Amino acid sequence: MDNTWFFEEKLANADPDVSQHIAAEESRQRSQIELVAPKNYLSRAAREAMGSMVVFATIEGYPGKRYHAGVENFDAIERLAIDRAKVMFGGGHANVQPHSGTQANQAVYFAVVRPGDTVLSMELSAGGHLSHGLKSNLSGCWFETVSYGTTRDGFIDYDAMEQLARKHRPKLIIVGGSSYPRAIDFARVSQIAKEVEAKTLADVSHFSGLIAAKEYPSPFPHIDFMTSTTNKNLRGPRGGMIVTRDAEFGRKIDSAVFPGIQGGPHPNVIAAKAVCFGEALKPEFAEYASRVLNCARKLASGLGSRGYQIVTGGTDTPFAMVDLRSKGLTGDVAQKALEDHGVTTNRNLVPHDAEAPNVTSGLRMGTSAIAARGMGEAEASGLAELIADVLDRIGGVTPGSSVKVDPAIAGKVSAMASTFPLYPNSTMSRWI
Ligand SMILES: *Cc1c(COP(=O)(O)O)cnc(C)c1O
Repeated sequence: MDNTWFFEEKLANADPDVSQHIAAEESRQRSQIELVAPKNYLSRAAREAMGSMVVFATIEGYPGKRYHAGVENFDAIERLAIDRAKVMFGGGHANVQPHSGTQANQAVYFAVVRPGDTVLSMELSAGGHLSHGLKSNLSGCWFETVSYGTTRDGFIDYDAMEQLARKHRPKLIIVGGSSYPRAIDFARVSQIAKEVEAKTLADVSHFSGLIAAKEYPSPFPHIDFMTSTTNKNLRGPRGGMIVTRDAEFGRKIDSAVFPGIQGGPHPNVIAAKAVCFGEALKPEFAEYASRVLNCARKLASGLGSRGYQIVTGGTDTPFAMVDLRSKGLTGDVAQKALEDHGVTTNRNLVPHDAEAPNVTSGLRMGTSAIAARGMGEAEASGLAELIADVLDRIGGVTPGSSVKVDPAIAGKVSAMASTFPLYPNSTMSRWI
């Protein structure tokens, strides 16, 4: 039986349809400027690990306690990822198996609360995440969710959190979210939780890289559980992780992940997590994280000086939140106009937003990806000007029609993209 094709035939020949779409996506990524906050790139080394033959390992269980033979190499890889995660965040136990951030949160729910129990979390429009109790998410169907929000100026209302905790006596209090741009007072949250004997979860998905680099306060020693996606600011592969403050919570988390909510983990992704955690422990990563933060601050101040309102007036995170209400604009129109000029962002609810989630009054702009590309504060300031130039053009456009593309602005965007190329010496077909 000649099955040479199986090991040899390239994607472009074997499946031109899929290949063509991948090539188009590669060219989009190379030519556009990515400001969608969760997006980021992997180092060449981490991509190699992710595309390696370790993907064929089948590995239910944990290092030293597997249910299959042939696992010793993978045990070593997973142990590296776990040890590095603990060093990176200063936790007592780490689980690197969650397939995603949502599943990391699900595992904490499974370890700590039972259906019908009450969970106190940040409401979505204030910056929370759907996996923290949205009605249409499993977390909102199986658990009672009570939400705190922000004060008028966009900062977490800790007094309201305290009152809600006293009134509802939640079993779990969640902080962290997808669009809250400020440092969280973990000590205050822990104080509130202690009084009502609640456990605490910090979902730091959007700023875990900043925490690793000590550019954002650490949840430990205040918070019981920390969850994060690994693909956002941490600059790793798509996936999730859980770190606990105390080793004793670790056992609960491990059994909540497997066999609680998952079967076998993705071995190639864990290998890439190990590489990315190793990178995050190096001085180069501290430089990267501080550049991410400085870029986000430049973007915020640049847009602010062009008359665009920034939620909370600034940021402590890898993204800035623009409130478009004072300009009479909505997020959907602004997102489209920017995309047409080669800058990708996402429309986002802002605190006390009256618009629907698919319209919104805000834009979220993250700097993790541009900083990974090598851009710095000068480029962030330049981008703020280009973005304001585009947004300024929207006024006067009749609803439903789009802004005409200004070739001068689009040209500057694509020039910036080519000045900071992605993987300049490799292409889709030869990156390993
Ligand atoms: C992105 C995000 C998640 C979910 O991540 P997925 O990997 O897409 O499931 C969870 N929590 C927060 C705060 C996030 O920003």
